[in-house]
Amino acid sequence: MSAPIKAYATPSAAGILAPFSLQRREPGAHDVAIDILYCGVCHSDLHQARNDWGNSLYPMVPGHEIVGRVTAVGKAVAKLKVGDYAGVGCMVDSCRHCESCKAGLEQYCVEGATLTYNGIERDGRTPTFGGYSEKVVVEERFVVKIAPSLDPKAVAPLLCAGITTYSPLRHWRVAQGQKVGIIGLGGLGHMGVKFAHAFGAHTVMITTSAHKAEDAKRLGADEVLISKDAAAMKKQAGSFDFLLNTIPNGHDLNPYAALLKRDATMTLVGALTALEPALQGYSLIGGRKNISGSAIGGMAETQEMLDFCAEHGIVSDVEVVAIQDINAIYERLLRGDVRYRFVIDMASLARG
Ligand code: NAP
Ligand code: ZN
Ligand code: ZN
Repeated sequence: MSAPIKAYATPSAAGILAPFSLQRREPGAHDVAIDILYCGVCHSDLHQARNDWGNSLYPMVPGHEIVGRVTAVGKAVAKLKVGDYAGVGCMVDSCRHCESCKAGLEQYCVEGATLTYNGIERDGRTPTFGGYSEKVVVEERFVVKIAPSLDPKAVAPLLCAGITTYSPLRHWRVAQGQKVGIIGLGGLGHMGVKFAHAFGAHTVMITTSAHKAEDAKRLGADEVLISKDAAAMKKQAGSFDFLLNTIPNGHDLNPYAALLKRDATMTLVGALTALEPALQGYSLIGGRKNISGSAIGGMAETQEMLDFCAEHGIVSDVEVVAIQDINAIYERLLRGDVRYRFVIDMASLARG
């Protein structure tokens, strides 16, 4: 094991983070050791720190939008070398032999992928600790390479917010000639707008926050639809080819389903818990509509997304914060006061 390193953890579902110390394994033949430069703050960090999903393990070191520099590689590592920029997202392992793993869809591993934090390693006992820490050691398959041309702090959110929006937009073949709505302008939503725009779709930002309209257009939205404006929603009924729904909590799906064209799909990536009030059957039946879900993306697709971003100069809009401010940042995230991703500068850990 390494010498103790600095981190921030919450000891309980109160979700209050404080300094913490942990050790990483010594890199094995297939491992990459990374000094963490930046880690994004995903709404999932807040959900899990506070046990919103009922599966939290404590102490918890959150963080799954990790960017850093490679400091050591095992002798079997081929794709990364010391000094490279590298990224780690939501997973650090999977079974590797199930149908999903073989298809490069490790996030749907039938045995369950090993999460970067709030998980247990495949030895069945070692807890995983995330990116609110100085260093991480991860097997090469679950590490991605980051182009030096991209700003590392603005790349960090691509490791979760980026891939979680890129993957469904690709899977449902969003392209030019389509009208696509991105619901919720936060960390995921702002990347969804950038990608839908980059893929050539007529992109509509669907938001509860009228004051975000100007930003939405700057990010790439052709139109902004205020979801609280019933008349505006009615006017756009039956007109969308695809909707990507990033709302973080249970909510009424019916008004959004009404926006879909016949045969069109709304994909949920945000709300993991019950969607209330109930979805009316008619909301789907009266138009042969589809509701689906999507989780992050596989490792190959994550690398593809990062390469696409490097080619098109796409990164996140970030507000850099110190780890000491993390509890206040969680409160801002809870209020939707985010433009559009908080990213922790890990150099701040040195201050204790
Ligand atoms: P975020 O930055 O907090 O943004 C969420 C946005 O949703 C808010 O800014 C707000 O946008 C809108 N919103 C919030 N509460 C709402 C409500 N009650 N009704 C309507 N709109 C609401 O969160 P995020 O980091 O983008 O994450 C979004 C969700 O995705 C979280 O639940 C997270 O856990 C989940 N997630 C899932 C995956 C996956 O693999 N599927 C991966 C990452 C994250 P407006 O002000 O524009 O309305
Ligand atoms: Zn996330
Ligand atoms: Zn598997």
